[in-house]
Amino acid sequence: MSAIRVPASRMEKALAETGWRVMVPSGAGRKGGYVELRAGGRLPRECGDHTKPSTPPKGLVFPNNEELLSYVLGVKGEIEVGPASHTMARTVLYGTPPCDTASFRALDSALLKDMAEPGYAGKRGLLGVIGMACSRAGRWCFCTSVGLSPRSNIGADLMVYPDGDDLLVERVSDRLDGLWKRLEAGAAGADEKALRAVEGKFVPRVLNFVFEAEKLADALEKAFGSPYWKEFSERCVSCGICTFLCPTCHCFDITDVAKDELSGKRLRTWDTCQFPEFTGETSAHNPRKERWARQRQRVLHKFLYHPRNHGHMMCTGCGRCIRYCPVDINIAEGVMRLGGSK
Ligand code: SF4
Ligand code: SF4
Repeated sequence: MSAIRVPASRMEKALAETGWRVMVPSGAGRKGGYVELRAGGRLPRECGDHTKPSTPPKGLVFPNNEELLSYVLGVKGEIEVGPASHTMARTVLYGTPPCDTASFRALDSALLKDMAEPGYAGKRGLLGVIGMACSRAGRWCFCTSVGLSPRSNIGADLMVYPDGDDLLVERVSDRLDGLWKRLEAGAAGADEKALRAVEGKFVPRVLNFVFEAEKLADALEKAFGSPYWKEFSERCVSCGICTFLCPTCHCFDITDVAKDELSGKRLRTWDTCQFPEFTGETSAHNPRKERWARQRQRVLHKFLYHPRNHGHMMCTGCGRCIRYCPVDINIAEGVMRLGGSK
């Protein structure tokens, strides 16, 4: 069976039995984040833009500040390096909207492919994601324009579709099979038809920003020299909020912090392509010192470079960068203008 129907209360019981830490969205669509469900707490019963917190879940496995190693210099000049621990409690994210669920595909492709980033890899291996179909889109949402949908299970290990007091649960990967087996025992199976019928209820209208994903990369490549980049970025104050709150942005800096003359630690800290010094070189040359060049980089990384390298956009249409930008810069409008809207 790859899909089952269970009472919602059974999911609560099965998750409690695993002993895993459960993180759920908190903040009801406003300032908030993913927080630990307290013992006996109720799992979210619905999902939508109204339940999506301002802070995405990436910080769980990609913290904004993480120790990579510590070092001690010996009296003879030898260096003792202490590796950092990249572990965390076994964790399940429950009730992530499809836009946040899909963020893990983008993060995995950037941080696990070719050369895995150890801090991310260590924790990602201990994280399971249970996505939930979205029943309410917001005015900043545009998941349907980036190859996703309110029913998309991309990035999920299990996907749940609330149906009254029940949940239709779809097994998407084997990562949460320990939980799946508990849920599956004695549960009613759901065939493809039943799954599609419930899935079909999750059709909130996502119509604010519509562009054609297939043609976007080529159109943006042609628009590299467009004068519109200056207009698009005119108001930007380079605060970086759009990238820090983005579920897929993952730029970082490495800093060595001395504790005393002989010891210290190396930190990996979030950084942003929107800070003027981000591309500053030791020669004092800075290839992206203008705001428009930095904004162009943000847009092209998400809609041209990452898709060419990994086959999917590095934007999930969550709308956070639009909603929380202090000067109302709208990435979707920029993309529609440069990439052609439908
Ligand atoms: S949030 Fe807005 S003002 Fe701040 S860096 Fe991003 S686009 Fe610029
Ligand atoms: S670029 Fe904006 S809309 Fe796209 S995933 Fe990041 S925050 Fe969400």
